[in-house]
Amino acid sequence: MQQHIEENSFDVIIVGAGMVGSTLALALAKQGLQILLLDKFAFKDNWQEKYDIRVSAITRASQYIFENLNVWDAIKEYACVYENMQVWDASGKGEIAFSCLDIGEPNLGFIVENRVIQRALFNALTMHDNIQIDTSATINTLHIEKNQAILTLENEQKRFASLLVGADGKRSWVRENANIGITAKSYSQHALVTVVETAQDHQNTAWQSFFPEGPLAFLPLYTKNISAIVWSVSPNRAKTLCNISTSDFEQQLEQAFPHLGKITIKEKRAAFPLGTHKAQYYVQERLALIGDAAHSVHPLAGQGLNMGLLDAASLANVIQQQQQKKRDIGLQYNLNAYQRWRKAENLVMLTAMDGFQRLFSPQPLLLQQVRNYGMSWFNKQTLIKKILIQYAMGFEGHLPDLAYSRFL
Ligand SMILES: Cc1cc2nc3c(=O)[nH]c(=O)nc-3n(C[C@H](O)[C@H](O)[C@H](O)COP(=O)(O)OP(=O)(O)OC[C@H]3O[C@@H](n4cnc5c(N)ncnc54)[C@H](O)[C@@H]3O)c2cc1C
Repeated sequence: MQQHIEENSFDVIIVGAGMVGSTLALALAKQGLQILLLDKFAFKDNWQEKYDIRVSAITRASQYIFENLNVWDAIKEYACVYENMQVWDASGKGEIAFSCLDIGEPNLGFIVENRVIQRALFNALTMHDNIQIDTSATINTLHIEKNQAILTLENEQKRFASLLVGADGKRSWVRENANIGITAKSYSQHALVTVVETAQDHQNTAWQSFFPEGPLAFLPLYTKNISAIVWSVSPNRAKTLCNISTSDFEQQLEQAFPHLGKITIKEKRAAFPLGTHKAQYYVQERLALIGDAAHSVHPLAGQGLNMGLLDAASLANVIQQQQQKKRDIGLQYNLNAYQRWRKAENLVMLTAMDGFQRLFSPQPLLLQQVRNYGMSWFNKQTLIKKILIQYAMGFEGHLPDLAYSRFL
């Protein structure tokens, strides 16, 4: 592909060097394509802080993608393995316990600070001659022609590619400028995130308590008594919790989650609005969307990034098949396979996450009792639990080549 690279001309331009866009860049570089990765804000160094308050639960499928792209060793070093997950209804007695022993696996996945993943990806990106990273350009316009996508930058320079990929997050500039609509819903919740120390060891367990206002998750980090928290509350409460004194915050958190003893806050607090959205299309002529540019879900099951990584690996798969057949990788006709594949897979997850969110939102007393009874019943169903765990770990569904163990 792109045998004689003209200056400013690429096989694929990826807008957005977040974890999903960077993963796609690596996958495509390994397929020999010439890549331009554009992002003014990515790779900001936040290593002067003790912890990144943004963390991600990584499924087995994502682990394999990272392994196959040779970035897993750098991530694993700072990843916390979690073996159990305890979920309970704070307004009743319903609880569900998941364990890796239920499915004969060594763990249920890993919790990693986002900056660890981003750094590992960045270091790998810089090792490829066929990836050009531009962190200074601002894009002004997007124009699609028969044979190429053209980006005009603020300084009037142009960049050309056979395929343009929008990996630029929830408020995707690419999606908007391609006039691709979205269906969106706000949950009227904000996720308050920070990192805390607990008196007791986190026991390599992810804990999640469902309150009528939203779930509170304690996610274990690689030091035994350090956890990241994701506390979904009303926007007003999030504002209050962000602004109250450290000791008042610790007290309120301890009240909501007394299970690991005294809590000491170790990082700043920040809140993110929560909602779900899905793009009307994932592909157009010379254009594809991946990751949060295409969809977002409530973080209660830690699936958003994992879905995006599967998008990246699946798109790489589809492109590779087109390359092998010497076809034009930017034709919508050739990209449709990616859209059919990932739209269907993501719809299942989007529907499931929205259903969970509604199930645990405030309900009349009778429904709360039914929910609690249902959770206790579910907790005893070993086979159904096993299927759910396998699904959440990314073992089920139509997986791309990179999501299999040691594919390369
Ligand atoms: C509180 C919280 C907890 C979460 N926990 C989990 C979890 O445990 N597990 C999980 O799988 N998911 C989780 N998620 C979801 C996950 O964080 C996102 O799905 C994931 O970060 C999306 O990655 P992305 O690369 O698609 O988008 P982003 O991370 O949003 O990256 C987009 C990139 O595009 C760049 N960009 C934007 N506009 C432009 C432009 N015009 N030009 C150039 N570049 C641009 C941005 O600078 C950014 O670098 C969580 C989300 C939240 C809010």
